[in-house]
Amino acid sequence: MSDFDYDLFVIGGGSGGVRAARVAASEYGVKVGLAEEDRYGGTCVIRGCVPKKLMVFASSYRDLFADARNYGWEINDGPFDWHLFSGKMRNELDRLEGIYRKLLDNSGVEKFDARATIKDAHTVTLSTGEEKTAKHILIATGGRPVRPELENGELGLVSDDIFHMDALPRSMLIVGGGYIACEFACILHGMGVDVSMYYRGGQILNGFDDEARGLVAEQMRMRGVGMHSGASILEMDQRDGGICVKSTLGNEKMFDKVFFATGRRPNTDNMGLEEVGVKLGRNGAIEVNEYSQTGVPSIYAIGDVTDRVNLTPVAIREGMAFVETVFGAKPTPVDHDLIPSAVFTQPEMGTVGMTEEAAREQEEIEIYATSFKPMQTAFAEREDRVMMKLVVSKKNRTVLGCHIVAPQAGEMIQLAGIAIKMGATKEQFDQTCAVHPTMAEELVTMRTPVRTS
Ligand code: NDP
Repeated sequence: MSDFDYDLFVIGGGSGGVRAARVAASEYGVKVGLAEEDRYGGTCVIRGCVPKKLMVFASSYRDLFADARNYGWEINDGPFDWHLFSGKMRNELDRLEGIYRKLLDNSGVEKFDARATIKDAHTVTLSTGEEKTAKHILIATGGRPVRPELENGELGLVSDDIFHMDALPRSMLIVGGGYIACEFACILHGMGVDVSMYYRGGQILNGFDDEARGLVAEQMRMRGVGMHSGASILEMDQRDGGICVKSTLGNEKMFDKVFFATGRRPNTDNMGLEEVGVKLGRNGAIEVNEYSQTGVPSIYAIGDVTDRVNLTPVAIREGMAFVETVFGAKPTPVDHDLIPSAVFTQPEMGTVGMTEEAAREQEEIEIYATSFKPMQTAFAEREDRVMMKLVVSKKNRTVLGCHIVAPQAGEMIQLAGIAIKMGATKEQFDQTCAVHPTMAEELVTMRTPVRTS
């Protein structure tokens, strides 16, 4: 008999926490409790990936209507009905949250709709006043968007707010140049909003391959997103039903709404973590070892709250590795190497492995790249260009990185990611027969490097 109420108590009902709780309870038969103060499904399901992707789909019809006319269809497009779409989107999120709740119930996890804080290495205090003890505590509380410190900054929206807007604004300023800024710039532009972006650096999507982010920026500009590099807000205030923004561009402009997409912060405030000896690092992230264990041996943390690689599938894998380690008696370090990912801009960017810039710092490389107008949109008289790029080690011919800017790049990079994770060489890419006619066939037909170093 255990001296604890639970073998495992999970704090946070997002993708990572729910997966760890479910697998521990159903596959290892251990007693699990889970507390969630908000909605089940967390950032991904409720205020991130899922509603964002639905908005990507909704916004992409604008181009498709125009394309369809060029393919011979008689189509009249009207304005986008945000009210109709957002109502359906909210119903879908309710349905998904219901599934998350049911999955937990079916695997025997005891749920608490409450905030939990850490009292000691084996005890959590719930906002209901109850205390629960557990042999192991897993913190999976995720992160939240942050506004920059700026007078009147509270006038700006953050990504959580976008899904709850009563109506679409006529104009919107998006501050930031990362994933969230770029994805929502494309989404809102597609829905008919006049979008401007202010980002403080020289280019959007810091950290991605230079050529790839350059093409995404060019295509966004071409579609009509107002892109302003080296731009920061100096002052903002409410005026005439909108927001007046004075910026480093040397002017004052009115926008209906301002949206801060200026990064996220781990949810570790007022949880009692440092008091029990859990170390917090940069930005308030929980410091963990390769097994997601904190300095307090009974307390583990996974997902965005650890600020390692802030992606849903990574949080899920960290949760699974935690369960294997703690309940499966199989110490499983989390593999953070060669994680494919996509930015759902229009066009999308899919990426896995090293950028050309990072690889060149490491060793001598060959670059295979091509850029072209894809058949489908070229016929529809659109100017869209796509790009495929392989970064190859000169020494052992391994493909170190793959970067794709194209419609459906997210789908393509998932598959290219398998080969690259397996350590495929350029010659093995070449030995693979092309699927014709597709865009992705270019990945196996590029014969001559465009650059070597
Ligand atoms: P990012 O870190 O990607 O981007 C933050 C942006 O805000 C950067 O352009 C940064 O500029 C800028 N910024 C930061 N602070 C300030 C400031 N004080 N003033 C002005 N600009 C500022 O964060 P996001 O919030 O976009 O996304 C968070 C994470 O969520 C991502 O890193 C990713 O892991 C995940 N995500 C993944 C998605 C996907 O897989 N498709 C989609 C959405 C999110 P600078 O670059 O100069 O620092």
